Amino acid sequence: MTEHPVLVLNAGSSSLKYQLLVPESGDVRAGGVIERIGESGSDVADHAAALEAMTERLRSDDVDLDELQLRAVGHRVVHGGPDFSEPVLIDDAVLDRVRDLSSLAPLHNPAAITGIEAARDRFDVPHVAVFDTAFFSALPPQASTYAVPRDLAEKHAIRRYGFHGTSHEYVSQAAADLLGRPTSDLRQVILHLGNGCSASAVRGGRPVDTSMGLTPLQGLVMGTRSGDVDPGLHAYLAREVGLSLDEIDTLLNKKSGVLGLSGVNDFRELEDRLEAGDAAARLAFDVVVHRLKHYVGAYLAILGGLDVLVFTAGIGENSTTVRAAVTEGLGELGITVDPARNAARSKQARVISPDGSRVVVAVVPTNEELAIARQTADLVG
Ligand code: AMP
Repeated sequence: MTEHPVLVLNAGSSSLKYQLLVPESGDVRAGGVIERIGESGSDVADHAAALEAMTERLRSDDVDLDELQLRAVGHRVVHGGPDFSEPVLIDDAVLDRVRDLSSLAPLHNPAAITGIEAARDRFDVPHVAVFDTAFFSALPPQASTYAVPRDLAEKHAIRRYGFHGTSHEYVSQAAADLLGRPTSDLRQVILHLGNGCSASAVRGGRPVDTSMGLTPLQGLVMGTRSGDVDPGLHAYLAREVGLSLDEIDTLLNKKSGVLGLSGVNDFRELEDRLEAGDAAARLAFDVVVHRLKHYVGAYLAILGGLDVLVFTAGIGENSTTVRAAVTEGLGELGITVDPARNAARSKQARVISPDGSRVVVAVVPTNEELAIARQTADLVG
């Protein structure tokens, strides 16, 4: 039984990421992404066709899904709203509840639902939903509550939910493992810096604060998302520029952030331009770093001190420059990195602060697929 793999699916509106792995060993049998689903000129008409394309691709790699006897399918679902604080076995009632949450995540949940429906038709095994918000459902009320009228917030489920929870939970545990200390001993700040970026404060393995909010737009500066702006900006843009609410939503989600400031959203390209002396790239980089420091300082105050600062995801794991810039000048707070350790390239979890530092600074690769596969396997037994 334990050899049977779990299929992890992450369905976007036009893409389907998949990974086939054995949760106990972490052994990855296959993985990939089917793109351009439903786009004009694409062979892949919908998510059902995408699953067939995936099956074909796996077969050409000598992986026969029907022979393998899948144990279960684990689905990444972005928004669990107020309903879901843990992974859940999917049935029709669960699917209806996830559908009801689409108003909270119109860009994400409908795609996940389409993917789940197609996968349930295709694979007659237990299906599990793992929510990106679940870890942060345990945020204390002072962190999760927006200062808006309480009756309105209650009626419309307005609160800070937080996202990337699977990653923050996995990485906080992996960082504790790296140090050989239990999470119960640790005050951690986790910086998940990928296409989407979020920070969290974690004490004793439990979330204390996080930078994303009702939606994944709040907080850090991201590839195409603004992160924090004055909430008054929305009314100003509507009045002065005549933008509709949908246009403002698109502007802040898709055309802002690093892209809006520099013209590129990929961080590697930004760093190339930075090296070439591009002034717009310089400003974008400085804004990203300033915001990161803002959150590190805030979380240090909220935690009442810090034991571990962790960098993860594409930028956090790979960018020596960002890690150096974020930690620069924080020696007074006990945060320093060793330049040689920071510059060393590795795929492994590692400490980059000097030995004996008050705060351990670490790089810990995230692995959301493994975390989803494990949670799925735990639930189906
Ligand atoms: P993710 O969403 O975790 O896959 O992260 C994607 C982001 O990581 C993109 O902005 C990439 O440009 C960035 N990234 C990946 N590798 C590097 C690298 N070597 N240096 C800087 N940024 C990187």
